[in-house]
Amino acid sequence: MDLIISGLSKTYGNGVKALDNVSLTIPTGMFGLLGPNGAGKSTLMRILATLQEADAGSAMLGDLDVLNNKEAVRKVLGYLPQEFGVYPRVSAYQMLDHIALLKGVTKGGERKELVEALLQKVNLWEHRKRRIAGFSGGMKQRFGIAQSLIGEPKLIIVDEPTAGLDPGERNRFYNLLTEIGENVVVILSTHIVQDVQELCSKMAIINKGKLLFAGSPNDALREIDGRVWEKTITKSELEQYTKAHQLISNKLVAGKPVIHVLGDHAPAEGFLKTAPTLEDVFFTHISSDMTTPVHA
Ligand code: ADP
Repeated sequence: MDLIISGLSKTYGNGVKALDNVSLTIPTGMFGLLGPNGAGKSTLMRILATLQEADAGSAMLGDLDVLNNKEAVRKVLGYLPQEFGVYPRVSAYQMLDHIALLKGVTKGGERKELVEALLQKVNLWEHRKRRIAGFSGGMKQRFGIAQSLIGEPKLIIVDEPTAGLDPGERNRFYNLLTEIGENVVVILSTHIVQDVQELCSKMAIINKGKLLFAGSPNDALREIDGRVWEKTITKSELEQYTKAHQLISNKLVAGKPVIHVLGDHAPAEGFLKTAPTLEDVFFTHISSDMTTPVHA
């Protein structure tokens, strides 16, 4: 069952166009929605999670009209928001039990079985009696996944889930996400390229409310294959290279800047052709979008 988004737009009261005519088909499995901060990801996630109204457009999950049938959507939705706000001072067990009750699991025995299974699944069984307020970032996110899985959702939305997690916690969280069923639409909204690289078979890039790319990470890599050039420079040369070339990435390797430039030919002496990464794809789209405000 695909999620089909057509012509979705949203302008805030202050005039910011957070979504500009976004059309996107999201199949079952893990889908990465990649964009820098302010791109419009949370706006899109909140609209799909029935928490916000769109100005125009539609979203259909199979034959369910997501924008106009909010009650029905909430029954099949698992949502892990960017921030929970205040974390409750009750135990993980009590909180899951409470949410399960709210979601309609009214039979005590059934609820106990469900809550226990979820706590085991997200590896919080040992901590079930601890207050969530005292959990680490990774534990809070795993708790978030547990609550989003109550009610066997068909659509799971996870908004910026790995921001602030250390590498170990991030890995545990990745492993957990990959265990979610294949017949569920899982949208992972993130500005972290690694999240998409490790988890997603399909992805989209958005910036300033516009869809810039949709397809598989491999398609995205193929688009720029053979056109990424790399050079290791010194810190003092960085400004000069930034002025002379359009850098698509710049990172430090062993303390030295390693820059990537996109081009059909070597941009200057000393550049070597390198295999593109998803990060190159991301920055290629984002930077060309900055120089060309009206993007097709
Ligand atoms: P992302 O999740 O990709 O960081 P958001 O959807 O949060 O992006 O924001 C998209 C744009 O809309 C940003 O420019 C942001 O400042 C603006 N925005 C978000 N929420 C509101 C709001 N409630 N009122 C006004 N502007 C908003």
